[in-house]
Order: sequence, then structure tokens, then C-alpha cells
Amino acid sequence: MKHFQFNFQTTLKSKLPPHFQSLIEAAEQTAYKAYAPYSHFKVGAAVLLQDGNLLTGCNHENAAYPAGVCAERAALSNLNMSNKSQHVVAIAVTYLSNDHLAKPISPCGICRQTILEVQQWQNKPITVYMCAPDGTIIIVDDAQYLLPFSFGSEFLDLPSDIH
Ligand SMILES: [Zn+2]
Repeated sequence: MKHFQFNFQTTLKSKLPPHFQSLIEAAEQTAYKAYAPYSHFKVGAAVLLQDGNLLTGCNHENAAYPAGVCAERAALSNLNMSNKSQHVVAIAVTYLSNDHLAKPISPCGICRQTILEVQQWQNKPITVYMCAPDGTIIIVDDAQYLLPFSFGSEFLDLPSDIH
């Protein structure tokens, strides 16, 4: 039997370098803009690009629940409007809580899939910062670790004689 293992770090926002604190603070501020009238669960995400620019997104719910979009995918969808020569260094995700919960949020399965495709496209690892309102953070250095045995475009690159 093989075992899947990866390294992760649990720390506090206050112990991070200033530019990563800024990344998380951008995610926090964006969470206030979330449209979440059904769950009341407001999520914010921020993407750090190689040149230092930030892209942000928040969750956007819908009465037809599956039509809702998560904060991480909302932030990453802004990549298409940014400088494509800049790769994604990191993504942070957090949520609002009146109780300042110490439980870091993690991307859902669809967002993990989306983050991983960006990583594969740019061929550089994306660090994922999963944050809690009290400042607790779990850091994973490579999005691949969040989605082992993933589905990817390599499965779609079929020889033409199969079609
Ligand atoms: Zn999601």
C-alpha cells in the first residue's frame, strides 16, 4: 500500500512577512463584499501575482443554489483580464465570523480543481493560504497536494482517430 503525504504549516497571520499579511487582509476585506443572502457565509479570496498585484473575489450566491460561485473562482476568473505573463504565486481564502473562529477554511472540490488547472497551466506551484478569522492559517506550498489523483486536461488530449 502506498501512502500519500505532504507538508503543511500551521501559523498565525501576524507571523507572516508583510506582503503575505497584505494578501490575507485583501481576502478579508473582499469577504465583506460577498453576496450570500442564503448561507450568510461570506468568503473572500485574494490572488497574489508574480509582480505583486492582487486579484480578489468573493462568493456570489444565487436562488438556484448550484449557480453560485465561490470566492476562489471569482478571484481567479480575474486572471483573464490581468497580465498573462504574471503567474500566480499564492491564493488566500478566508471567511467572516462573529465568533472569530479558529478553524481555517479550505477550498471546495471545484475550487481545488480550478486552482490546480491554473497551476498546471503556468507550471509553477501555487501556495494556498487557508485562513481563519482569528488569524490561524494553514499553508500548503503546492495546490497539487489538495487534489491528489486529479482530473486534468491531459485526459482530454486524445488522438484524433478516437473521435
Ligand atoms: Zn469553491
